[in-house]
Amino acid sequence: MSNQGNNAAVDYDVVVIGAGFGGMYMLYKLRELGFSARAFEVADDVGGTWYWNRYPGARCDVESVEYSYSFDPQLQQDWVWTERYAAQPEILRYAQHVADRFDLRRDISFTTRVEEAQFDDATATWTVRTGGTDERTVRSRFLVSAVGCLSSANWPNIPGRESFAGDTYHTGQWPHHEVDFTGKVVGVIGTGSSGIQSIPIIARQAEHLYVFQRTPNYTVPAHNRPLTPDELADVKARYDAIREKNRTLSGGFGAQYERGEIGAMEVPDDVRDAEYEKRWQIGGFNLLGGYTDIILSKESNETAAQFVRRKIGEIVHDPAVAAALTPDHVIGCKRLCIDTGYYETFNRPNVTLVDIHDTGIDEITPSGVRAGGTDYALDALVFATGFDAMTGSLLKMDIRGPEVSLREAWAAGPRTYLGLGVHGIPNFFVITGPGSPSVLTNMIMSIEQHVEWIGDCLVAMRDGGHARIEATEPAQDQWVDYVNMVASMTLFPTCNSWYLGANVPGKTRVFMPLPGLPPYREQCDAVAANGYEGFALA
Ligand code: NAP
Repeated sequence: MSNQGNNAAVDYDVVVIGAGFGGMYMLYKLRELGFSARAFEVADDVGGTWYWNRYPGARCDVESVEYSYSFDPQLQQDWVWTERYAAQPEILRYAQHVADRFDLRRDISFTTRVEEAQFDDATATWTVRTGGTDERTVRSRFLVSAVGCLSSANWPNIPGRESFAGDTYHTGQWPHHEVDFTGKVVGVIGTGSSGIQSIPIIARQAEHLYVFQRTPNYTVPAHNRPLTPDELADVKARYDAIREKNRTLSGGFGAQYERGEIGAMEVPDDVRDAEYEKRWQIGGFNLLGGYTDIILSKESNETAAQFVRRKIGEIVHDPAVAAALTPDHVIGCKRLCIDTGYYETFNRPNVTLVDIHDTGIDEITPSGVRAGGTDYALDALVFATGFDAMTGSLLKMDIRGPEVSLREAWAAGPRTYLGLGVHGIPNFFVITGPGSPSVLTNMIMSIEQHVEWIGDCLVAMRDGGHARIEATEPAQDQWVDYVNMVASMTLFPTCNSWYLGANVPGKTRVFMPLPGLPPYREQCDAVAANGYEGFALA
């Protein structure tokens, strides 16, 4: 039993929900600061997104040496990344290594789901009810959500979905055993990052692959490759400087690459094309880093979009297929995809692109997919249809403040202060919540910033003898307006992305993440320095 700071006896100072990268570091930090904590995790091991997303080709789109914790200098010196972009098994091994190294598992209940949590104002404590292996009711002073932004699989509501007689998969809930599509006729629905990574690999195995594409996407080659010992040694010798530089960059990664300092229209066409070509050859998100205004100016954006459209035309042999694969929306307003041989896959004789943009999918039948009036007989069907992003996993739980539940508070879309706190739900923090840069950044860097901010806040409360903290309504209103204002200065809201919740029918359209990590970090630091301004402490 812990009893720090107020008179109510509790089981733990803090309950942490989830044991992905956010939950693991939160647990580590809480221990370091002398708080008792318990994490509850639905999976049977750590890793979060990298536990679930085991589909063929799953790989991070942020380079491995950057997509890793920076909080422990020895950890980053000891761990050896093998590839420029780490594949899912390696990232999961890294998460497991972190859990072992810091003995985190002893404070995690696996295969256990937080079902509901009720805040009691009289005692300023949470009563948390869990289900699964460690089914019980526990009391804590604080509740921290580390459920992740992309953890609630989106199964589209296509008529007949459950009737399919073959094997059905979702990229975000992939089985743990090897899935071999050899000799099978396979359908993939969805051409976001998960589809684009898995399609080239499934195509190499399958007898025939049908790709059902509603909206074409822009993707840039990863040019993934093994990392050499010399490269790794060089990074490790400069790690602190690389991390520091990343903290100054909008997305929190890319320190090793040059960034443009002028707008795309300030240079002649041939110079700009040469720049895009150079960046295409480097690969990854670099493509959009050459100019300062790609996501701000439609005219500048169009130059980058045209460049990729030209590439598609050069790579894909059949002009009709190339045309169907060519997006017409703003590049970058849906997350840019990073691939290995995606467009080339459509030159294979065993791959058919089925353009369902105008028709959608009519229905799923026991034998396959009917789209545009044509039946496609399939042995296996893969849903690469993404996630109920940023709010899905939070709203699966019934989290209730004294007068309002989170579901009620967010009925018209998520509202937070700093993406960290919610008015009406005291003593509750969200790691990388909506209203924070989160998914627009290197997630691990954003996780570290939030965990450290929450840790500092809890220490300040302990030192100040405070038992209760809640975002005020005016501060939250101002923050929501600010996030909307920043988003509206960019091209992000111009297409139907999951950033807006547009991929889930019926979900309120709100641009959920906040562009720009460095100013956000400064705002969070200023709030803390000003005695947690915008939060009511009691
Ligand atoms: P996503 O980007 O939301 O893509 C889902 C795809 O499914 C889209 O092509 C969508 O079409 C399609 N779709 C959804 N519902 C459909 C329906 N009813 N009928 C037909 N098509 C439908 O999901 P994701 O690919 O899983 O990626 C989500 C995010 O996860 C990424 O943006 C990225 O942030 C992260 N991720 C990262 C990596 C990486 O690090 N490399 C890998 C995978 C995922 P529309 O576009 O028309 O909606």
